[in-house]
Amino acid sequence: MKTYTLPPLPYAYDALEPHISKQIMTLHHDKHHQAYVTNANAAMEKLEKSRKGELQIDIRGVLRDFGFNADGHILHSLFWPNMAPAGKGGGAPGGKLADQINKDFGGFDKFKAQFSDASKTVEGSGWAMLIYEPTSEQLIISQIEKHNLNHIAHSSIILASDQWEHSWYLQYLNDRAKYVDAWWNVVNWSEADARLGKAIK
Ligand code: MN
Repeated sequence: MKTYTLPPLPYAYDALEPHISKQIMTLHHDKHHQAYVTNANAAMEKLEKSRKGELQIDIRGVLRDFGFNADGHILHSLFWPNMAPAGKGGGAPGGKLADQINKDFGGFDKFKAQFSDASKTVEGSGWAMLIYEPTSEQLIISQIEKHNLNHIAHSSIILASDQWEHSWYLQYLNDRAKYVDAWWNVVNWSEADARLGKAIK
């Protein structure tokens, strides 16, 4: 059975300070992300044992559990490199991504305002995302509730912003809007541009 493993953070735990604290990054990566990996692997093991006739399972429940945790793992694996320390992160994108944002949103500021709005309004726990939807050949802003609801089939995620409380509450308390505003300082635009290049090819 193939299993998932927790990838290391691509920078130090305190590298995103002052915008995202070392405490949040440590808990978020070492505890929350690790839990998605552990639970996705546990669900996979249940599915395998069920196939071998060693375990009776509620397939709907186990598949839901697997989808939730596997998507949690996949999204967080994308989220860490989609941020970068001061000096490398923030500002505005360049490259193909800048052109595509101008074309599809009428300018970076308009995109940023709508993405922030999507971030601040995710219902419950979830994500705001910039996705490339290949059928219409355009960038679209989207939300995911939890980890696995509201996916748009075939789309590639270009940028994902974690809006679960564990990603901001310890530092920003009830002020999610302040986290969303600060988050723009750590966006890794060159990684997002590379992601768009792969999505369009
Ligand atoms: Mn998270």
